Amino acid sequence: MSVLEKNAANHAIALEDQYGAHNYHPLPVVLAKGEGVYVWDVDGKKYYDFLSAYSAVNQGHCHPTIIGAMIEQAKTLTLTSRAFYNDKLGVYEEYITKYFGFDKVLPMNTGAEAVETAIKICRKWAYEKKGISENDAQIIVCENNFHGRTTTIISFSNDENARKNFGPYTAGFIKIAYDDLDALEKAIKSSKNIAGFLVEPIQGEAGVYMPSSDYLAKAQKLCKDNNVLFIADEVQTGIARTGSILAVCGNCSCENACEKQETYVQPDVLILGKALSGGVYPVSAVLANDEIMNVIKPGQHGSTFGGNPVAAAVAIAALDVVQDENLTQNARKLGNLFRSELNKYIETSSIVSLVRGKGLLNAIVINDTEESETAWNICMKLSENGLLAKPTHGNIIRFAPPLVMTEEQLLDCVSIITKTLKEFEK
Ligand SMILES: *Cc1c(COP(=O)(O)O)cnc(C)c1O
Repeated sequence: MSVLEKNAANHAIALEDQYGAHNYHPLPVVLAKGEGVYVWDVDGKKYYDFLSAYSAVNQGHCHPTIIGAMIEQAKTLTLTSRAFYNDKLGVYEEYITKYFGFDKVLPMNTGAEAVETAIKICRKWAYEKKGISENDAQIIVCENNFHGRTTTIISFSNDENARKNFGPYTAGFIKIAYDDLDALEKAIKSSKNIAGFLVEPIQGEAGVYMPSSDYLAKAQKLCKDNNVLFIADEVQTGIARTGSILAVCGNCSCENACEKQETYVQPDVLILGKALSGGVYPVSAVLANDEIMNVIKPGQHGSTFGGNPVAAAVAIAALDVVQDENLTQNARKLGNLFRSELNKYIETSSIVSLVRGKGLLNAIVINDTEESETAWNICMKLSENGLLAKPTHGNIIRFAPPLVMTEEQLLDCVSIITKTLKEFEK
């Protein structure tokens, strides 16, 4: 590495440090280019991306189909606002609703905005359809949830770091343990004011926690039997990440593309973001059927950029790529391979206690305390060895590569990971 190149990295880090708010703690790697499963830093060093921008880049970096659609649309028309119709939005709305099997979509930009939108729709439905008295609606959420960063959303987080000194908090949420059907039933039956149950099919940020295999189907049935909306936040788990188009595998049109899952769950409200755009542009969406979505009338909710023509063109291309390149099947196949290969290593490891996950959303738990620096140090070493990943919570490292990975590349990654872990064995 030349002095000049090293300075380029240090300079970029110093700029962010001086002029940017310190709301993240990045690994000291300065990226300048991406293609498929790879990213390159300013010195030209090549890495496997094993985070995929928190599962936003499922289709791989700079996918030519998606970038092509974006450039084409950007040259033609970028933003009209919803004060007027545009010739792309309706086409996209038809496409995405048929893709996932819902009557209607409400387009937004970021994941947090889509979660906020789902909460608003749920509350309005509760007052106008379920007959709950105004301001009494309660939404059930799970402990250790991650749904974004707005003031309302952090109000029902139990991550002290995300919450502390951001109060006063928004009322109207009941927190129960994740993967606990008894707790859900008790909470639902505790009051006639329960409007919805907001849940991640797998808790990604918390450390890739998977519920019991019958949890989502039974939770959905409990909701249905009690006229409570089942709201699935698939911002991270959706769009093929876990080896099915949705982690709850709802009533989508992908049946010919993916094998039918053992649990077949149709959420009342589906929240998508991240990979909905292949990571090239902020695009999020809330999907629901008419009896729910029609509670929203003109002027009651919106976004200047939501549903813009570039977003519409990009999202269609991003969803096309998922189907055309069989990314659900690939994620499922490579996920099984990844876990079985890592399990072979873990059998004799003292530093890793387990690997868990579904499809290509996985995590390893490091055999050390949550406060220890070991997971961070392993990620630093992984980066030296050409693979980028980041701890989620203390001693957990999430592994979520782009879904366009080949088997050969995955095995190469497994060998980088095991070789790195060996350096930490006691
Ligand atoms: C990332 C994420 C969000 C928030 O998305 P942003 O685009 O960062 O606002 C919401 N829910 C889940 C499950 C997520 O993983």
